[in-house]
Amino acid sequence: YLAKANGSNQYCVYNAQLALAHERKIRVENELKKAVETEQLFLVYQPIVELETGRPIGMEALLRWVHPELGFVSPAEFIPIAEETGQIVCVGEWVLREACEQTKRWHDEGYAYLYVSVNVSARQIQQGSFVHLVQTTLQKTGLSVEKLELEITESIMQDPSRSTKVLNDLQHLGVKTAIDDFGTGYSSLYLLKELPINTIKIDKAFVDDMTNNRGHSVVKSIIQIGRNLGLKIIAEGIEHETQVEELLQDSCHYGQGYHYLKPAPVNEFALYLTKVEEEKSLG
Ligand code: C2E
Ligand code: MG
Ligand code: MG
Ligand code: MG
Repeated sequence: YLAKANGSNQYCVYNAQLALAHERKIRVENELKKAVETEQLFLVYQPIVELETGRPIGMEALLRWVHPELGFVSPAEFIPIAEETGQIVCVGEWVLREACEQTKRWHDEGYAYLYVSVNVSARQIQQGSFVHLVQTTLQKTGLSVEKLELEITESIMQDPSRSTKVLNDLQHLGVKTAIDDFGTGYSSLYLLKELPINTIKIDKAFVDDMTNNRGHSVVKSIIQIGRNLGLKIIAEGIEHETQVEELLQDSCHYGQGYHYLKPAPVNEFALYLTKVEEEKSLG
């Protein structure tokens, strides 16, 4: 009798939670529609550094959303929703233009060596007009083609023939491509073998796991595969100096993470750049 009461109770709680989650999702979806126009979205930037020197070679643009009532909404929450509803196509178009514009500004301010890395969803790649969009965005913003890298995830393998065409076209255009969160999806090796990819980004989960032997072996193997294919390898989520030393020993030359800088708004990132330049001129 007790068990039964308990059981039905749990069922109710579960149901209520489900309803709440659904409500929240609808809310996020509706509010996101207005977010682009009302300028609630903005980009933050995280440096991608050369591990040997600690100097930035580029930066990843990451989307942020602060809603007047909901407050900060994590991209981990709203990006999957935007992907599901297709809103990511419009949002992603804005992200690409904004990131290219800002990078051009930094180039004009004397940081012409920096490249920008922009996250792109499978939904965007599936659009027939994607390569054209990239091309016109570069033209309009004046950013040099070799200063743009697009981060894709293994989810693009859901439509391999379409993705192959798009990545080949991007390569012809001169835009670089990176596999983000490498190793967390499926068919990563197939992707590496078949598609024109320039960069592997090792997911934070693997970098965290370097503290044990098995984890360390996995990271070393990823680095070796990348190096054998002539790719650039970036370790994500570096938080400690010991990780930097190990990665360098294993011949991984680039990385990003809180150890260097948390993703920062434009002004703060500019301060970081000034500081780095000062250190450089001091030798
Ligand atoms: P991602 O592209 O793999 O980005 C790396 C995530 O790790 C970012 O989370 C970043 O803030 C976080 N991170 C960087 N260094 C560290 C570290 O040292 N420690 C820890 N704990 N975290 C670190 P964020 O900004 O919350 O973004 C989450 C995900 O949302 C991104 O993962 C990406 O998949 C997606 N995303 C963000 N912006 C965009 C966008 O403009 N378009 C698309 N399609 N997806 C985006
Ligand atoms: Mg990324
Ligand atoms: Mg990543
Ligand atoms: Mg990630």
